[in-house]
Amino acid sequence: MSEGTRTDDLPTGDAAGDDDLSQLLELQQTDQRIRRIRHQLDDLPEQRELDEAEARATELTRTSDAIRVDLDRVSVEQRRLENEIDVLRQRKDAEHTRMYSGDISSPKELQSLRAEIDATERRISAHEDELLEVMERLEALDAGTTQVTTEYDELTGRIEQLTAARDEAAQGLLAELAELEVQRDKQRGNLSDDLLARYDQRLERFNGLAVAELSDGMCTGCRIELPVFEINELLDGPPLGTCPQCSRLLVIPA
Ligand SMILES: [Zn+2]
Repeated sequence: MSEGTRTDDLPTGDAAGDDDLSQLLELQQTDQRIRRIRHQLDDLPEQRELDEAEARATELTRTSDAIRVDLDRVSVEQRRLENEIDVLRQRKDAEHTRMYSGDISSPKELQSLRAEIDATERRISAHEDELLEVMERLEALDAGTTQVTTEYDELTGRIEQLTAARDEAAQGLLAELAELEVQRDKQRGNLSDDLLARYDQRLERFNGLAVAELSDGMCTGCRIELPVFEINELLDGPPLGTCPQCSRLLVIPA
């Protein structure tokens, strides 16, 4: 507490003199300006655009990951089909060789071998159709990767530009904020820890209006009219009271 206050006989919690009160109100003004600037900084159009671009970049990364998983899965399918087609072709070649080796003379046996060759050829053809579909899916996935990569690269450039634009727009506000923070530290240095603790407790809770005044029988914070006995109690009490309605710190007029 600063020297020369007239509250030595009051309990610590209420110890605040006129000097302290005007300094406390000045501190609150500084804190309010700091809050406004922080709000402006959060709400810059460049910041909003940047947030959107970054959200899109995250979305693209997720899409790209999903495509990669699909590509792996479809590539496995491609290799499986290619292997099976290889095996079936080898089988067909072997069946052909047997057919024309001259070792088989029974027409019935030759007929059944012909039927086997036909069946193998049908399976090869079905596998080839399937492989074609798989290749088409791979192509579509590759095209998807190219599209996502192109958009992502463009977006990365845009994010850089937006970051620079945001920083430029924020520069003035950041300079002002730095000055106000120095001023706030100085103002806090003049007030007791106890008073600052009571103020800080309420600052966030009441959106920057921790200290109100008793004016026309009501608290300027909550604007609730107080009953006469409460007004009288406050008037008889210390110069800094507490609003019985909202519990803001309340400056009582002399
Ligand atoms: Zn109030």
